Amino acid sequence: MNEALPVWGEADVAVVGGSLAGVAAAVAQARAGRRVLLTDPGFALGAELTAANRPWVTAGSVPEPLAGLVGDHVPAGTPVPLRPAAVKLALEDAVLSAGGQLLYGVRWLGTTLDGAVFAGKSGRGVVRCGGLLNAGRGPREGRVWSVEFTGVGGAAAGLSGTHGLAGPGGVRLVDGCRGPGHVYALVNVAEGNRRAALVEATRPLREHPGFAGAEVGAVGTVPLAGGAVPAWAQREDGVWELGGGAAAVDGDDLVDAGELWSVGSLPPAHPSPPPAAPACPSVARTLRTDVLVVGGGTSGASAALGAARAGAETVLVEAGPGPGGTGTHGGVHSYWFGRRAGHAAEIQRLTRETHRALGLRHGGVGRWNIEAKSLALHRALRRAGVQLHYEAQAFDVIKDGDRVVGAVFADAEGHTFAVRARVVVDATGDADLAAWAGAPCAYGAADTHTVMWSALARFDTPSSTVNSFGGLADHTDVQDTTRAVLAARRRAPGAHDHAALPVARETRHLAGQVTLTLTDQLIGRRWPDAVTVHFSNHDLKGKGEALWPQLGLIPPNLEIDVPYRALLPRNVTGLLVTGKAISATHDALPALRMQADLENLGEVTGLAAARCAAGDVPPHRLDVAALQAELERRGRLPARRPAPRVPPTPALVEELGRRLPLHSYSDMGRREVFRGVIPFVHLALDQRPATTEALTAALDRATGQLRTVLAQLLVLHGQRAGADVLVAELTETLAGPALPPRTSAIREAQLPPDQSAMPDPCYLLHTLALARDPRAIPLWERVAALLDAEEAAFRDPAAAPFSWVDAVCAGAERLGDPAAVPALTALRDRPALHGQWRTGGVEPDDLQERRALLELAIARALAACGSPRGHRTLVAYLADNRALLAAQAHTRLTLLTGVDHGADRAAWLAHLAREDPPAPRPLPSAHDPHRHDTPALIPSRDPAQGALP
Ligand SMILES: Cc1cc2nc3c(=O)[nH]c(=O)nc-3n(C[C@H](O)[C@H](O)[C@H](O)COP(=O)(O)OP(=O)(O)OC[C@H]3O[C@@H](n4cnc5c(N)ncnc54)[C@H](O)[C@@H]3O)c2cc1C
Repeated sequence: MNEALPVWGEADVAVVGGSLAGVAAAVAQARAGRRVLLTDPGFALGAELTAANRPWVTAGSVPEPLAGLVGDHVPAGTPVPLRPAAVKLALEDAVLSAGGQLLYGVRWLGTTLDGAVFAGKSGRGVVRCGGLLNAGRGPREGRVWSVEFTGVGGAAAGLSGTHGLAGPGGVRLVDGCRGPGHVYALVNVAEGNRRAALVEATRPLREHPGFAGAEVGAVGTVPLAGGAVPAWAQREDGVWELGGGAAAVDGDDLVDAGELWSVGSLPPAHPSPPPAAPACPSVARTLRTDVLVVGGGTSGASAALGAARAGAETVLVEAGPGPGGTGTHGGVHSYWFGRRAGHAAEIQRLTRETHRALGLRHGGVGRWNIEAKSLALHRALRRAGVQLHYEAQAFDVIKDGDRVVGAVFADAEGHTFAVRARVVVDATGDADLAAWAGAPCAYGAADTHTVMWSALARFDTPSSTVNSFGGLADHTDVQDTTRAVLAARRRAPGAHDHAALPVARETRHLAGQVTLTLTDQLIGRRWPDAVTVHFSNHDLKGKGEALWPQLGLIPPNLEIDVPYRALLPRNVTGLLVTGKAISATHDALPALRMQADLENLGEVTGLAAARCAAGDVPPHRLDVAALQAELERRGRLPARRPAPRVPPTPALVEELGRRLPLHSYSDMGRREVFRGVIPFVHLALDQRPATTEALTAALDRATGQLRTVLAQLLVLHGQRAGADVLVAELTETLAGPALPPRTSAIREAQLPPDQSAMPDPCYLLHTLALARDPRAIPLWERVAALLDAEEAAFRDPAAAPFSWVDAVCAGAERLGDPAAVPALTALRDRPALHGQWRTGGVEPDDLQERRALLELAIARALAACGSPRGHRTLVAYLADNRALLAAQAHTRLTLLTGVDHGADRAAWLAHLAREDPPAPRPLPSAHDPHRHDTPALIPSRDPAQGALP
């Protein structure tokens, strides 16, 4: 079977499991000159310390990589508490600096002829290797759990300092690294239940006055196995066993970290090659149910609740240690916008009750303790009768013809099982199942694969995360996820800790039976099959691609209908997709992705699935009117609101000037809802000659901002008069000695690109880009001459060099005129804007990735204008180890040439050499990124020349 599997790595030795012993073995093997690849199902090493939440070592017997974290003069035998983030970093650095490689988020399934087979978010893959060491987890016993507290008062101080474990049901307190008030509570919970441990370990909160003001941070997440440390041994199938975390607990004592490390550092002998015959296991058992929900996160937990409460036998399978996903173990512990009514209000109530029951003083409403919310969801799921499987990851679907009938999973120990169901709900947030089943999907923005920033949530204190704006990452690619995790950890080396799961604001979108667009949102589109209503601002954390914000119209807070068809794949049946992966464009998602809304959407999806299962109806045949009636009866679907009434053209033109500048629409309080009409949008979409005439007449009379906006509209109507005004205005603006800074105060805007906040002239450059007007070329030259591309400017949201360069490239790529090459070359020659590709290692500074994005944009524009330099840069990016940048380069090269040489750079260069210099090839309208949101405005403007093959 391995011929068909992608290769995820090559090594002399693969080490399975990043336990202390596993890390030690990987380091020892690497130092012995072998190529080593260390894998782990989680996203950090040293689980006995970092995932079990007992981050301390004993001076005198400290694992080598952690020695630098312990002071020189600490007497031997003294327990030294460490910062969890520092432990994770030091262990990773030990492997990387010895020359080893890491692969996170993969579960070892077994061996095959030339290596080891793993399952992960990319499905299955093989690591080709000459030998295999298993340092993974042994059988689960779950002996020890730890909960972290801060703010523990003086009265409790005397209780801490004890090391070791209490007897059954006992709680022991251990000092943490943050000084007074920071303690870990260890409990011994026989059945190994994380949730029981939380209840037990938080007992001091309820019983001891010293904990009156305390806050709860992380909970130990790793079920540890018992038993003695095994010596190195070879199993019958040829795999070398290290025992991994098997020895982390010995009776009632925690085994010292130094001792665990020494297990792996023992003999660096070359392990034997894998067995000659494949030992990859087949699926061990198959469960059957009515509804299978894959992914127990924000939407999935609610989907399972919805289905089970509607009477369906329901199985929920979740890769993480408990329910809640991004909103719990991903560390995003608060609501932001979202309609907090109906089911979301119930979740909030349950969370608040759990807070109170645990004795937590803070949170529960709008913001929560992540363990408490996970516990609240778990209990609700149990009460509803959902069969729960945690720490099990789907890696394939089961299909019967076009119909998805189940999925295949690997649990934490790599045991596989299958679940077959009448209806399957894909709540992975990434449309994993839909993609594996062959349904059309798009990763981020369809042509550039741009996504909002992903993150590894950072805990600056044990109980509080800070919002994080990491880079671009493909979370369905295990290698790229590993790179992103390593980079994120190095972005904040002083953090207290990081979340257990990396999270993404945006990944893969289903391309479903209807696709929701930003234009739909702005015109307040009502769908006949609406099943829920979302509410948000346009919270775009990253680079937008849609037309409206690039013209300066930043959307207001909107209520948005979500139709049932956005959950339905094309070409595949038996499957409903929910959560942030529903069918929507890159620019529609920012307002659809809030947790409260996805909880509501999840419940609706579960209810729909239950109705399908009960009636034995495939999801695409469901009686949606009956579903809507039930949702209305239960108060889940708000009363139908009429679509906003659009006034006649003269009134719209009149109204246009009342709300300027356009980005002021976004200037609203968090609870305010915009229910009006946005004249700019309707006047742009209404392409009737009479409207063009009305706009032209209005332009003659207008002055100031209104004149500019009318000119923008006329550009969208294909009128040169509009471009005349913009060219004149920009010529004047750019005559000054420096590029003007951003002066608009756009809410929440961070470092560009973010929230589509730009210096105002950039909006006009983007408008001119649509006109494909060569009079823009001198303006681009002026931008290139004035651009400050120094580091300080990049870090200044007002200077915004990103926005300037991006706006120039948007125009040049559409124009495709060789006359634009000097301006583009002048940009490209700035040291910050070339040579930014990376073929290995990790890049902690997310600014570097923004520069790489610009280098790609310049390369695309150069290539469109016929400069071979552009092509060469695109070819260089094919090897970039940031998967989405490489994907963008590949997509663009195939578009420019009409052929596909994959990632084979030599083949691309040979192909490109045949046409040197290449013909200019302006971006065809059929691939204009705006076409997804504003199809009516794009197709008519294709230039006759330069058509693509
Ligand atoms: C950094 C960041 C900050 C944010 N800030 C806010 C905020 O402040 N407020 C707000 O309301 N929203 C915020 N959001 C948005 C919101 O949190 C998400 O849109 C939402 O949680 C996504 O829900 P989901 O159900 O689609 O995915 P998730 O909640 O991520 O759930 C998906 C679940 O599926 C599991 N899974 C995935 N693949 C598999 C598989 N193959 N097999 C088994 N299980 C699998 C995952 O472990 C996960 O638990 C933020 C998002 C991010 C990333």
